[in-house]
Amino acid sequence: MSRLGDLFGTDDGEYHPDLPADPDVGEVLLRVDGLTKHFPDTGALGGLHLDRDGDGPLPLSVEREWVRAVDDVTFDVKRGETLGLVGESGCGKSTLARTILRLVEPTDGAVYFRGRNLATLGTSALREVRQDVQLIFQDPQSSLNPRLSVGRIVEEPMRAHGMLDEAGREERARDLLEAVGLDPQHYNRYPHAFSGGQRQRINLARALSVEPDLIVCDEPVSALDVSIQAQVLNTMRDLQDEFGLTYVFIAHDLSVIRHISDRVAVMYLGKVVELAEKEELFENPRHPYTRALLDSIPVPDPRASGERGVLAGDVPSPVDPPAGCRFHTRCPALIAPDSVDLTDEEWDAVRRFARAVDRREFAATDAADIRERYFDGGFPRGEAGEVVKDAVAAIERDDWEDARSLLVGAFVAESVCAREDPEYETDPEYGDDRHFVACHLQRETDQTY
Ligand code: SF4
Repeated sequence: MSRLGDLFGTDDGEYHPDLPADPDVGEVLLRVDGLTKHFPDTGALGGLHLDRDGDGPLPLSVEREWVRAVDDVTFDVKRGETLGLVGESGCGKSTLARTILRLVEPTDGAVYFRGRNLATLGTSALREVRQDVQLIFQDPQSSLNPRLSVGRIVEEPMRAHGMLDEAGREERARDLLEAVGLDPQHYNRYPHAFSGGQRQRINLARALSVEPDLIVCDEPVSALDVSIQAQVLNTMRDLQDEFGLTYVFIAHDLSVIRHISDRVAVMYLGKVVELAEKEELFENPRHPYTRALLDSIPVPDPRASGERGVLAGDVPSPVDPPAGCRFHTRCPALIAPDSVDLTDEEWDAVRRFARAVDRREFAATDAADIRERYFDGGFPRGEAGEVVKDAVAAIERDDWEDARSLLVGAFVAESVCAREDPEYETDPEYGDDRHFVACHLQRETDQTY
């Protein structure tokens, strides 16, 4: 059988030797293990290269490139909990959700649900499992068929899975409408008669109709007003208790994630970079990216001041993600290469200067001005200082690219951050669960993951 299973066969999947098929609350219901999804780059110039030295009829070559949307992602979801998945848009969260449910085929890795690997299931076995694993999308408007009454919409999954007879389905649909906070008398109304929040409640009722164990929620409240968001989130919590549900909850908004989650995974450029219990993650964030995300939450007090660590710089392309730690091109805490012999203060100044040059944060100016702006105590000593002076000279002659490549070559490319993929587990300050941090700052004190 192929690694991704016989798509058209009846393969009922590999079973994990250590994962329960009928987990109790707190045991692993879902294990995502090394899950990877790469898409061929279909952009306008995807894979097209200028090849001036080529001997073909055109100075172009085509080489297939891959968008590395999800790369080697691993985590567990325990029965009865809500795992929040957060990150900037384009970080791979939604692709991860779709790959877990095999709405898109994984490139590599395994997804164990109730101990069985969904990635190796044949079509009919997968169809059965889809009754137990439901997905709720962001846009409640477009995910509801406008030509069907809400009653029919809620009944559709039951009909597809052969559950109950007509009368039984109607009774269950009315009960579910009530359970999600809608009036069962509205069974015959159509989606356009409902508000955004009510439509998302209809989606919830539809997902619940087939008695799922797990609901993967992809930005379910981000299209709603803030006041409605809280109501829908509270309903989801109540339904979780009532029906014993487990959620994977995807959002870009940390306040939403904080409201609903028990544990939180932070994603950046296709990878999970931090995972911990909610309180541990929010009170003791260890990854510089998580800290930057938390710092970028708007401050409600307009009198609050001070420099905030708002994320700067563009997210790199997932076609060619940075080597080592993928956050290293934006990280304010980049670790000095072993070969660089500087004090912490000197390194801090060099790092700030290198980042500013990379982003061209200041207008080209002379050496005295740069020195005053970034190196208050004077340019650093030794070889590092010589590199800095060469970079400053390049800026003076308006050759920013040369300055950038000098600084990247000497200080960034040599850093462990750019050379090794970090994976560490550490003891938490809050709660009992181990705290996963993909950052080399943990390397001295913590044990390797
Ligand atoms: S590994 Fe290095 S670049 Fe990555 S987050 Fe940690 S300090 Fe920053």
